[in-house]
Amino acid sequence: MPSSLLSVGLRCRCPRCGQGALFKGFMRVVDRCPDCGLDVAAADSGDGPAVFLIFILGFTLVPAALIFALKVDWPLWVLLLLWGPIIIGATLGLMRPAKALTIAAQYRYRRDQFGGEDEGGEG
Ligand SMILES: [Zn+2]
Repeated sequence: MPSSLLSVGLRCRCPRCGQGALFKGFMRVVDRCPDCGLDVAAADSGDGPAVFLIFILGFTLVPAALIFALKVDWPLWVLLLLWGPIIIGATLGLMRPAKALTIAAQYRYRRDQFGGEDEGGEG
């Protein structure tokens, strides 16, 4: 049964079956889904996930850090110690779901990239 884009993206699962793990290691995408055999390696998400995160985090965390810096009177090095780990942690924490979400969107809307598979999708 097909899963929603958001569900498979946040859980980092296979876009077709919603069960198989999409990653081996931190960011390396599996060649084939261990559950349904979907050729996941055929789809290349490229820089898409990084661009999403640049926009999302850039438009949320940078203003938050600037407003915070204006509200408190802390030295710059303290602000760097505070916001550095927050920004790096948010980026690394969201990279896998962003990549999984991009691959799920590719599977839904550009299914021809997955080894010529045609399962009667919406496209
Ligand atoms: Zn699968």
